[in-house]
Amino acid sequence: MIDVLEGGCFCGKVRYKTSCLDSAFKVNCHCRNCQKLSGAAYISLLGVPENSFSVTGEVTCFETTGGSGKKMRTFFCASCNSRLYGKPEIGPGLVLIGAATLDRPELYRPTADMFVKNALPWDSMDDTIPKFDAFPPRRS
Ligand SMILES: [Zn+2]
Ligand SMILES: [Zn+2]
Repeated sequence: MIDVLEGGCFCGKVRYKTSCLDSAFKVNCHCRNCQKLSGAAYISLLGVPENSFSVTGEVTCFETTGGSGKKMRTFFCASCNSRLYGKPEIGPGLVLIGAATLDRPELYRPTADMFVKNALPWDSMDDTIPKFDAFPPRRS
């Protein structure tokens, strides 16, 4: 029985965990910032409440302005520079974990794609999940 999700960076110096197992935010982000930060066509994001999330190890923070015009702070391992998670101004209290940095990434399944207007022509997406041109509307 799993009660926390854990993950970390490539070199292992930064570790994080979250007690949120029922996230409603499991989205592939195809925005240009995610493409540049990862070198990949998109980043699979797992959104969890900030108060369920804790980190050990030294991280660095890089701030960008997203497609929405709002700021996004992205956090990296200070040693190996793996991109680990972000904190978007547009979603206060939300931490967006890079799902592939989880110890058990196979437990994650994206349920939507966002910023599909920036999706690369060689990217292949799952046609069965919803697509959003920008940030999906928040569920209340
Ligand atoms: Zn590292
Ligand atoms: Zn993005």
